[in-house]
Amino acid sequence: MRTSIATVSLSGSLTEKLTAASRAGFDGVEIFENDLLASPLTPEEIRARCADLGLTIDLYQPMRDIEAVPSDEFDRNLRRAEHKFRLMRRLGADTVLVCSSVSPLAVDDDELAARQLRRLAELAQDFGIRVAYEALAWGRHVSTYDHAWSIVEQAGHPALGTCLDSFHILARGSDPKGIEDIPGEKIFFLQLADAPLMAMDVLQWSRHYRCFPGQGGFDIAGLVGHVIRAGYQGPLSLEVFNDVFRQAEAGPTAVDAQRSLLVLQEAAGLAEPPAPVVPSGIAFAELVTPDAEPVSAILEALGFTRTARHRGKPVDLWQQGEARVLLNTGPAARRDGTSLAAIGLESPDPAGAARRAEALLAPVLPRRRAPEDAPLDAVAAPDGTELFFCATDSSELPHWTSDFEPAEHQPPTHHGARRTGHKPSPDGGVHHIDHLALTQPWHQFDEAALFHRSVLGFGAQESVDVADPYGLLRSRAVTSADGSVRIALGVGPAPTADEGGRAQHIALATDDVVTAARRFRAAGGRLLPMPPNYYDDLAARYEFTDDELETYRELGILYDRDADGEFRHCYTETVDRVFFELVQRDGGYRGYGAPNAPVRLAAQHARRPVG
Ligand code: MG
Ligand code: MG
Repeated sequence: MRTSIATVSLSGSLTEKLTAASRAGFDGVEIFENDLLASPLTPEEIRARCADLGLTIDLYQPMRDIEAVPSDEFDRNLRRAEHKFRLMRRLGADTVLVCSSVSPLAVDDDELAARQLRRLAELAQDFGIRVAYEALAWGRHVSTYDHAWSIVEQAGHPALGTCLDSFHILARGSDPKGIEDIPGEKIFFLQLADAPLMAMDVLQWSRHYRCFPGQGGFDIAGLVGHVIRAGYQGPLSLEVFNDVFRQAEAGPTAVDAQRSLLVLQEAAGLAEPPAPVVPSGIAFAELVTPDAEPVSAILEALGFTRTARHRGKPVDLWQQGEARVLLNTGPAARRDGTSLAAIGLESPDPAGAARRAEALLAPVLPRRRAPEDAPLDAVAAPDGTELFFCATDSSELPHWTSDFEPAEHQPPTHHGARRTGHKPSPDGGVHHIDHLALTQPWHQFDEAALFHRSVLGFGAQESVDVADPYGLLRSRAVTSADGSVRIALGVGPAPTADEGGRAQHIALATDDVVTAARRFRAAGGRLLPMPPNYYDDLAARYEFTDDELETYRELGILYDRDADGEFRHCYTETVDRVFFELVQRDGGYRGYGAPNAPVRLAAQHARRPVG
């Protein structure tokens, strides 16, 4: 279907908004009146700019407080409307949005509202303009879509129809099924916005917390289904008021917006992009670092072995069990200190995964490979992390490890690096990467979750808020259905120079975290110490023996429990932005130790040199 976006959904000048919408592939825009008023361009110039950019102007909005008012007031409203209709002619816009009145002058009289809207429609028709009447969720007398439609129906004028807005409908808790009773040709426009489910004043909720479909808690695809079955022919248009998008760069926001509509159309059965190919495991985590020494020392103390080196690049493969960490000291590592730059995702169909990603507008990365290297498809996640789609071990496709040759004095790794099946490590060894934690830019948290869900086919867990000593951290995990890939997305205190807000970590799974921590420390590794108060609290909450508690305290091991199982974990020291976590999951524990995160964050802050 045709897609459109309200200029209010993007940041910047009107020209910047139009350019971003066009580049992201939108077919049209809703011109928000304030954007026009603030623009130095004449209506004719805006019209020409849109035409140059291949954009139609699908809606001009909003026109407020028109209907159900005393006649002298209505006469003034008509004069105002006529002025705007002339402007719309110059702009080349043929549909105007009229919101249900919030004026204290408005009376609760549907018959009067219908009569005045009919009069407005007659005037609009003279200008070749159509009026789309929308129920604001906080309208004075008209606040539901079915009420707005009954007034439109009563008015009975061809230039008067209704505008449906998913936020207003779903925020009121209206049943969208009734939309199917509206003749499709009388639905002049459809505006789409999602929102997180919150108990708050609906006006504030709408003005500040709308988000793109799929980023909130409403069933937008279900609503669109009703609108399509009603026979609606117009565009799917995004109208999102959001404090974050207002400040974020328009270009990437417009792409995220367009992606949300692609995913929505897929969910509503209106489009069929290539099916998601869910990754089946983490092939590797790649750290870039200007200095291999500190990270190598940690990896070695954790029990990893440097097994191989890339044939053409300064990249080492460190391995333990099925956990593989690449350490890249190439040019990419010069900029940003040590960071988690790339993730290799094992995929049953790497090319299919890349096709899906590309169809959903993920930036496809140029292959930075030598001709003889295994071809690897890669895309960039919203935070810039490179995601490589790697063939599984059982696949006939070239394996990424074939680009590596064994490190000196090491057994061959071309095949040794491949999966050999799950090896239990009762000795405290690491057997695989449990999860990766990536910190997102503060304005990209919701889109990052939608990206991982839609592009990679992951499921998203609920987001949790965690108190950091210097702000709030939000965290949301995305996982494959079988838990073989888990990525914790976090966002720290907004924009911060503090490394704590940008930290990333690699969590390594062991069957025995106490032994693993002891081995790490005996090998010279440094664990993050936790405050004694934490262990006093543990003693109060759970029935540990004194010895057990003393062991945890000594090693800085944290504990959590859910309905399914238990979680014990501890942390290494941090190198630039990166640290490692050792985790022991018992039973079916599904979380990440979120209740312990404030203690961990405070401990990391305390370790940072002062001044
Ligand atoms: Mg609206
Ligand atoms: Mg973790």
